[in-house]
Amino acid sequence: MIRKKVTILGSGSAGLTAAIYAARANLEPLVIQGLQAGGQLTITTDVENFPGFPDGILGPTLMEEMHKQAERFGTQFIYDNAESVDLSKRPFVIKTSGEEIHTDTVLICTGANAKLLGIESETKLMGHGVSACATCDGFFFRDKRVFVVGGGDTAMEEAVFLTRFASQVTVIHRSENFRASRIMYDRAVNTPKVDFLLDTVIEEVYDMAKNEVTGIRVRNVKTNEVKDLTADGVFIAIGHKPNTELFKGQLELSENGYIVTDGVKTKIPGVFAAGDVQDEVYKQAITAAGTGCAAALEAQWYLEKLEESEKAEKKTAVNPSMTPAGSRE
Ligand code: NDP
Repeated sequence: MIRKKVTILGSGSAGLTAAIYAARANLEPLVIQGLQAGGQLTITTDVENFPGFPDGILGPTLMEEMHKQAERFGTQFIYDNAESVDLSKRPFVIKTSGEEIHTDTVLICTGANAKLLGIESETKLMGHGVSACATCDGFFFRDKRVFVVGGGDTAMEEAVFLTRFASQVTVIHRSENFRASRIMYDRAVNTPKVDFLLDTVIEEVYDMAKNEVTGIRVRNVKTNEVKDLTADGVFIAIGHKPNTELFKGQLELSENGYIVTDGVKTKIPGVFAAGDVQDEVYKQAITAAGTGCAAALEAQWYLEKLEESEKAEKKTAVNPSMTPAGSRE
């Protein structure tokens, strides 16, 4: 059994930033890294919008550096997934395949994953012309021909955003019915460089051998007609899935499955959530880092209050005429 004051679930930019802050506050945090250690940035290539790197930095390198920084101040790491989390007891109990951790605070930084189409070429070319984030990668597609997959608000927003760079943006949607709100749909329709390819799915992204996107094979789902189109980039915008399975029934989740927070506080004192697992709006590495920092500070303050009230309780036990000072939250 491991006893900790601070346990962080997840090692993306929220989790590692939280670890740096908690470690520098002498809280000796434990990070349960998850099996995709480093989070979503480990599947990207150049990151050009993280402040402090004027020439850009590779996503995996950025995460390795954050890991080293957290380690330097005494963070302990477990390379495993959390299999269960019990937030009904104090200390909270977290189990991995080989460890049981008892902890006074839990910082949930388990992130969200972009949903993908599930074809091999899409995965192989991720970061090499295939992207799940226009804000992150749009800049690399100046004067290029790009496709955006999806029919929701994200697809509309990304298509319009990409016209700042791309020469032509085609939205590929598998039906004729859009989930996007009318205003977002209209905005995309009325943007000159955006056009639509409906009732269509991507079957393959070319060219795995060249390790870059050169085209796509698409199929019309109504006629089954298949054709090849030239492409420089493919943006998958079919939604995100927050990693909140472990917390169902324990924490309040939004309609889309994200943890509902007040800032970074959940409804359970001592349990905080940061990064994409609670962020349905910004979903950026830097915003995740920001909330990771906030979660570590909140955990630190929570622990200080806890310590104060425990001291007061002890004093009262020794001298029952005294009333305890402070409260747990
Ligand atoms: P949505 O779930 O709203 O839309 C996903 C889209 O992707 C749907 O059109 C769906 O098609 C399509 N899709 C899903 N799976 C596949 C697949 N395997 N292959 C092809 N297409 C697929 O997700 P969004 O990310 O667009 O939006 C999520 C939430 O965030 C929404 O509530 C949205 O309103 C909100 N949002 C708001 C914004 C704003 O207001 N500025 C901006 C972005 C998002 P189908 O309909 O056929 O299932």
